[in-house]
Amino acid sequence: MSESLFTKILLKKIPGDIVFENDRIFAINDINPQAPVHILIIPKEQITTLNDLKGEHKELMGEMFIVAKDLAKKMGFDENGYRAVINCNMDGGQSVYHIHLHLLAGRHMEWPPG
Ligand code: AMP
Repeated sequence: MSESLFTKILLKKIPGDIVFENDRIFAINDINPQAPVHILIIPKEQITTLNDLKGEHKELMGEMFIVAKDLAKKMGFDENGYRAVINCNMDGGQSVYHIHLHLLAGRHMEWPPG
C-alpha cells in the first residue's frame, strides 16, 4: 500500500500541524477548516475506509473517540459541545482514503448536514 497523505504528514515528508501523537494515533489541524476548531484524529495504521474495519480495530477506534473527547476537554469546548464524524467513500464525502475522525467545534453545528 502506498503512503497516504496523512502518513506522509506523520513521517514529516510533507508539512502538517500535528497537535497530538501517541503510539497508535495522531491528530492534525485540518488545512481547510470547516469550523473554528477542525482537527483530524488519525490512526497510524493506514486503514482505508470505515468499510475496511475489522474486529481487531475495535480498541483503536474506541481510542480515537477517547482522544477526541480528551482534546475537547483540554481545549475547553467539551461543555458547549462539538461534532465528531467519519466520512466514508464518495457519498459520505471522503476525500482522503486513510480513515480519520473529524473533530469540529467552536460554532453551532446544523443538522441535517449538507
Ligand atoms: P475527508 O473529506 O473526510 O476525507 O477529509 C479529508 C480532510 O483532509 C479534509 O477536511 C481536508 O481539508 C483535509 N486535508 C487535506 N489535505 C490536508 C493537509 N495537507 N493537511 C491537513 N488536512 C488536509
